[in-house]
Amino acid sequence: MEVLNEILNLIKQSNKIIVTGHIMPDGDCISSVLSLSIALEKVGKDVLPVIDYDIPYQYQELVEVQKIKKANDVIREINECDLIIILDSSSVDRIGKLKDFLENKKKIVIDHHVTNEKFGDVNWVGDFFSSTAQMIYRLNQALGVEYDSRLSTINLMGIATDTGFFRYPNTTSEVFKDAYELSKRGGEIWPIAQMILENNRPERLKLFANTIEKMEFLLDGKFVHSIIRYEDFKRFNCKEEDSSGFVGELRAIKGVEVAVLVVEYPKGKVHVSMRSKNEFDVSTIASELGGGGHPRAAGCTFDDADPDEIRKIVVNKISEALSIRG
Ligand code: AMP
Ligand code: MN
Ligand code: MN
Repeated sequence: MEVLNEILNLIKQSNKIIVTGHIMPDGDCISSVLSLSIALEKVGKDVLPVIDYDIPYQYQELVEVQKIKKANDVIREINECDLIIILDSSSVDRIGKLKDFLENKKKIVIDHHVTNEKFGDVNWVGDFFSSTAQMIYRLNQALGVEYDSRLSTINLMGIATDTGFFRYPNTTSEVFKDAYELSKRGGEIWPIAQMILENNRPERLKLFANTIEKMEFLLDGKFVHSIIRYEDFKRFNCKEEDSSGFVGELRAIKGVEVAVLVVEYPKGKVHVSMRSKNEFDVSTIASELGGGGHPRAAGCTFDDADPDEIRKIVVNKISEALSIRG
């Protein structure tokens, strides 16, 4: 594949490499950043993983996560690097302060979002892939990297989380093939599943109960939406990361086709998470509102906004689109 060769060439020509992913990092982002960083280290590169955001507490149980830095702590290294590899991020707005360092730098973008803006010198954007982690597995094989059990587990994590632990429609035979190979190399799914799915803080569950209480249903139960205001996070002693996964639970309700969760964190910053079950394309709506994502999982973010106003705008937009569709 030509683009893979271009990536290999750029990596070969570079020594100091920054590997980064998106803000509000998820399992795929963390897995991809770590798997590529470990691999590049194995082939003798000077690598620095950067994610310009707090890492959710569950993932901090991975010792390798300690190596990931925020942009402000490594300004000198960012200035001195020869190459920045940007993973799982559809636009420059998704990478935090690293955005300000992209000019005059060689950039590789590797991502599986349909909405990717291809802002790199080389862009490998494949919406055929379940996860960026799956693409990184392919890249690392092309780099000739040996997979030990630890790297296999870390790489498997991103494939697992972005397929909802092998449940979503993106769980293709290729996913099972890659997961099988990683498992053969010693990758373990259970410690990852336990770390992510069976690691709830009681405070988080109370916040979830409150989110459930505030649900509103429209269109005969086809559309559900709820809201978490900054005050709710404070009241239940929670942070933004504690709300991750809630919107998936809203979608999981019987009869629901589209679920929306409006989250304000911190005060005035509003993130909208959208999910759909079967046909409805939420990435189009998210893109129209300045965000992006996948057909069945997308989002958008607003600064200095009122969460209730945003909720009204999004609910109207989706209700209209859903009722036209019938
Ligand atoms: P979330 O609802 O935050 O879990 O995000 C769902 C999907 O939409 C993920 O694949 C994100 O990468 C993407 N996404 C979320 N927020 C944004 C945004 N502000 N801009 C672009 N893509 C986003
Ligand atoms: Mn992601
Ligand atoms: Mn992803």
